[in-house]
Amino acid sequence: MNAIEQDKDLAQVAKSNLLNYSVSQLVDWCGSQGQKAFRAKQLSKWIHQHGVSDFAQMTDLAKDFRNTLLEKAVLEAPATISDHQSKDGTRKWLFDMGNGDAIETVFIPEERRGTLCVSSQAGCAVNCRFCSTGKQGFSRNLSTAEIVAQLWVANNLLGDPSQRQNPQERAVTNVVMMGMGEPLLNYDALVPALQLMLDDSAYGLSRRRVTVSTSGVVPFMDRLSQDCPVALAVSLHAPNDELRDHLVPLNKKYPLSELLDACNRYLRHAPRDFITFEYCMLDGVNDTPEHARQLLEISKRVHCKFNLIPFNPFPESGLKKSSKNAIAAFVDVLASQGVVTTVRKTRGEDIDAACGQLAGEVKDRTKVQQRMEQVISLEQLKKTGQPSRNNT
Ligand code: SAH
Ligand code: SF4
Repeated sequence: MNAIEQDKDLAQVAKSNLLNYSVSQLVDWCGSQGQKAFRAKQLSKWIHQHGVSDFAQMTDLAKDFRNTLLEKAVLEAPATISDHQSKDGTRKWLFDMGNGDAIETVFIPEERRGTLCVSSQAGCAVNCRFCSTGKQGFSRNLSTAEIVAQLWVANNLLGDPSQRQNPQERAVTNVVMMGMGEPLLNYDALVPALQLMLDDSAYGLSRRRVTVSTSGVVPFMDRLSQDCPVALAVSLHAPNDELRDHLVPLNKKYPLSELLDACNRYLRHAPRDFITFEYCMLDGVNDTPEHARQLLEISKRVHCKFNLIPFNPFPESGLKKSSKNAIAAFVDVLASQGVVTTVRKTRGEDIDAACGQLAGEVKDRTKVQQRMEQVISLEQLKKTGQPSRNNT
């Protein structure tokens, strides 16, 4: 790199990436540049609703303000490594997070909605037995900009925003924080990203259309209920502590009774009156009618519905997916007592976009062995509830 390029590079570093800001943070940033709050809202609409990345094109902003933006701000999304489309319309992007890390984002079109599955961390420290992301270990938290950019880029690539009659009509109608990582262990970056998803000057999604999925980080479930009570999915995967300790190691820190109490506290604030319990169906491990009967007891304690996820096998797991018959018998036990139970359809299998497969290509890039050495030890997690590295 020559001196001029280096200078340019330094100037770039000093610029603020506006994708990092919720609308209220953008109001503060604009205030610091002598601009009124309504300018921040106009700016937010250009960025998030019209998908415009060039400040010069934001024609209803005063020229002086546009010049300030060109000088002091950037809109920077991670580079796209790959973009695959499945036969069933599912689309998967692999984004470069630097230092050999990559994350994935998946768009799942359905008849009347389009759901974007968003990642929150590169890797994950929780290390659930059946999850290939967990097997990679934890690398780093994503910034707010890196979380929001997944939505920003997807909306821009899924049709031309300038052609839409109503800028609120975007391809992505629902967001689920079910990609790589444990969102509640990246809380400070997560909340502004969620706020942007809900804000009318940005993505304007209703709270019911934004879902955070957690393996059960109890203290942050409580904080989320106060700060941004979107729909909550809890990865249960086992009906008793003995089995859950084994499948979701975080259970040793926050056992089922505490988790279920936290669910009930959440529901007091939540706009939606049930918790979705996700349950990955593992052959001979958690899929017998007796396990289903134990879940009935849980369903009496928390207003909930169950979403059964057929396990997506990967070689290192040593686990197998449940048979169709076992899943059907499991559903029968729950449904016989009126517990709403759905079985998740597997989408995008031909491009490895199904749950728990979001690491296929990443694994090679991120050198699994190295990552495994960085796996946050369970002891660390038990002590603090936080991964030991936080690179935001
Ligand atoms: N970390 C969060 C969200 C990301 S995982 C969580 O655990 O809730 C999203 C869902 O996919 C979780 O319910 C997770 O347990 C499930 N999952 C992970 N690996 C899977 C696999 N191999 N097959 C099926 N579901 C899997
Ligand atoms: Fe992490 Fe969720 Fe995978 Fe568990 S299932 S290792 S919490 S991403």
